[in-house]
Amino acid sequence: MSAPFATPPEAHADGAGLAHRQIVVLGSGPAGLTAAIYTARANLMPLVFAGEPSSTGDQPGGQLMLTTEVENYPGFVDGILGPELMNRFESQAKRFGADVVQERALRVDLTTRPFLIWGSGGGSGPPTTSADALIVATGARSLMLGVPGEDRLLGHGVSTCATCDGFFFREQDIAVVGGGDSALEEALFLTRFARKVTVIHRRSELRASRIMQDRAFAHEKIELMWNTVVLEVLGESKLSGARVQDVVTGEERVISLGGLFVAIGHQPNTDLVKGQLDLTEAGYIQTFDGSFTSIPGVFACGDVQDHVYRQAITAAGSGCIAAIDAERWLEAGHHQLHKTTGTREGA
Ligand SMILES: Cc1cc2nc3c(=O)[nH]c(=O)nc-3n(C[C@H](O)[C@H](O)[C@H](O)COP(=O)(O)OP(=O)(O)OC[C@H]3O[C@@H](n4cnc5c(N)ncnc54)[C@H](O)[C@@H]3O)c2cc1C
Repeated sequence: MSAPFATPPEAHADGAGLAHRQIVVLGSGPAGLTAAIYTARANLMPLVFAGEPSSTGDQPGGQLMLTTEVENYPGFVDGILGPELMNRFESQAKRFGADVVQERALRVDLTTRPFLIWGSGGGSGPPTTSADALIVATGARSLMLGVPGEDRLLGHGVSTCATCDGFFFREQDIAVVGGGDSALEEALFLTRFARKVTVIHRRSELRASRIMQDRAFAHEKIELMWNTVVLEVLGESKLSGARVQDVVTGEERVISLGGLFVAIGHQPNTDLVKGQLDLTEAGYIQTFDGSFTSIPGVFACGDVQDHVYRQAITAAGSGCIAAIDAERWLEAGHHQLHKTTGTREGA
């Protein structure tokens, strides 16, 4: 197996030092690499900016690099480790000719044709790459508590996704941290597996809608722990509990837990395109007719445009959609049209 995401940046430069590609993909999670597989197999030789190593899901391979077992990705009967799955996606994309560079896009200019991209390999210099079509698959990140132990135990008892991981916590005591609709949705979902679900909330009332609150309050397995914050997540290689504090009395105590779900929100990685592409109220890239965005030739897929499903399979599916949309858009010559007339038609 090749080292994951180790392809060195290659020179694709024209005479002026600017590498031109028909397709550039930003992001190497399930969405970006699926888009790369499809566009590579269509002979479009995509260049993928995979991102750079970090301690969050915003890294080469995306959010699945933070997890252990993935049991719901079709085709893997016995499950597969998240990093191994993403390694396979990457190898498959490369097999068909995709170039994957371990760089972030620092800036993009979508007002000009072709689009311009400043890769982190180019430092603070001029743009490194130009593209006829751009696929944005920069994903999202879960907001985290930022307390000691959390990073270490993510994927080892700490999770951000009940749909993904609930199954691993059968007959255990689980806590969900948060007070919005999604926290209660996670809590209700987890009652299918857990012995008890404690919702830990820092205030004395929830932000969640009335109907969700009614459902949660009525559920025999759900308990609310009001006015409480998590100070530390405990356990060496596996979660054992959490140190919590009552913010009214200041009293601290340790609760023992098999699982801790952080449900305090998600942040789409849209800084790069803010002010250039239309975003939804919640800050996700607005897509229509599949993966089209407000700028013709720019396509978006995966969690950066989906705040509802947020699964590897849905991200991969939307990566396929973006690849096919981009291929057809190029095939129809829209990029040429834009070059010569500057028109914004053709989406
Ligand atoms: C702990 C955890 C466990 C999970 N378990 C499961 C599971 O079991 N099953 C399941 O189906 N789903 C699971 N998920 C959800 C799943 O991981 C996501 O839905 C999926 O990864 C989204 O894919 P994506 O390609 O849209 O984005 P991401 O996976 O978020 O990838 C985004 C990519 O964009 C890159 N990027 C960001 N900014 C830039 C930039 N400026 N330039 C270049 N690249 C950039 C990042 O480096 C990364 O490569 C889990 C998520 C987490 C956090």
